[in-house]
Amino acid sequence: MNYEYSQKEFEFFIELYQMVSAYSASHPMDTGGADCEKNIQGGVEKLGQTPYLKLGVSDVENANGLVTLMGAMEVVAAVSPSLYLTAEYSMRLLGRALAKWGDEKQKQAFLNPLISGSAIGALALCEQTVNVDNEPLAATGEKQGSTVIISGRKQFVVNGPVAKVIGVVGTCDGKPAIFLVDGDAPGLSINRTEGSFGYKGACISEMILENCRIDEDRMIRCSEKEDMVSVLRLWENQILTGASLGLMRASFESARDYAKSHKTGGKPIIAYQEIGFKLAEMLTLFQTSQMLAIRAAWTAEKQPREAFDLTLCAKVFCTESAARVSGEAMNIFGSSAYFGANPVEHAYCCARYGESFGTSTELSRIKIGDAALGIKP
Ligand SMILES: Cc1cc2nc3c(=O)[nH]c(=O)nc-3n(C[C@H](O)[C@H](O)[C@H](O)COP(=O)(O)OP(=O)(O)OC[C@H]3O[C@@H](n4cnc5c(N)ncnc54)[C@H](O)[C@@H]3O)c2cc1C
Repeated sequence: MNYEYSQKEFEFFIELYQMVSAYSASHPMDTGGADCEKNIQGGVEKLGQTPYLKLGVSDVENANGLVTLMGAMEVVAAVSPSLYLTAEYSMRLLGRALAKWGDEKQKQAFLNPLISGSAIGALALCEQTVNVDNEPLAATGEKQGSTVIISGRKQFVVNGPVAKVIGVVGTCDGKPAIFLVDGDAPGLSINRTEGSFGYKGACISEMILENCRIDEDRMIRCSEKEDMVSVLRLWENQILTGASLGLMRASFESARDYAKSHKTGGKPIIAYQEIGFKLAEMLTLFQTSQMLAIRAAWTAEKQPREAFDLTLCAKVFCTESAARVSGEAMNIFGSSAYFGANPVEHAYCCARYGESFGTSTELSRIKIGDAALGIKP
């Protein structure tokens, strides 16, 4: 594979960076609160005016599918982790599910508004208090004529409080399905989860479905041969890998600039060898992560059967590296890291999430070990 991005791709990344940075400077998106929520919705609309939301979902001129997407993910996550999470859980989870398994009518009604950024979606996969990698899906849909009646409880749903449509993952007749439920549907309760440790601007909620009714044509199914939950997990792990790259970029660049400008003991701290070693370690982890993430994205595009294990390797390495790089950035900032709206502090909090979100770092290692031994799940 070729690791080099083309001139056109670089130009797109620069335009994306300038657009998101300018918007985020006048519309804070990582502080939490009502204004922040409005700003993020505006941010998603702005992303809808670029090819960003389409990447990985449909063909984009001068773009190389998931490989271009990985580079673009780094750019958006570095500027605003909360905008990134909102846009990704909307587009690269629910949007990709609609693009892959939805019928034309569903695409028209639900996918097009997500691509244009005029609506935000959510995907509720994980069950209450448990990781779906350990236990079967508990949310169920029961068919009654042309109606499906859904019941279940989901613990954490990114975009739950702001989503126009939520893809609830469960089973119907014993087979996996995604139920497309309107955000304000009768029988659906959304309880916002406040005070998250990172991704402070993202809206997250618990969801309870009690006899929530949808028409049968709002149900998405996959083919018998596919494992829907594993595919959704793969996509979520790609999102967390992309987030880690952005968090590392933000942490490294902020720490490098601070080390050059902040003086103590009569000289800038970059003059102390130990600070230089820290920056060298951070850059090494960041660049190694970039290469592995791009290779995993390329494999998912070109050799999808081999993508599952490699994506887990990339997710483990990149999320753990992001935690380490942002932690070192905190040390370089010293006491300044603990006060005010500091990008390094926020990157550190977001990075810690990456290890537990999606297939957790512990479960990923178990799966990677099984794959190394040739044990099939
Ligand atoms: C802020 C936030 C937002 C989220 N948004 C969404 C969303 O939009 N949609 C969605 O579907 N999900 C979402 N999730 C769920 C998330 O992706 C996790 O999968 C889910 O939280 C798993 O829960 P848990 O880690 O508490 O699981 P648990 O299964 O309770 O795991 C607890 C701990 O035990 C470890 N563990 C579990 N099983 C094993 C094992 N077999 N061997 C060794 N160790 C093990 C885990 O690694 C973890 O460290 C979100 C989670 C958070 C925190």
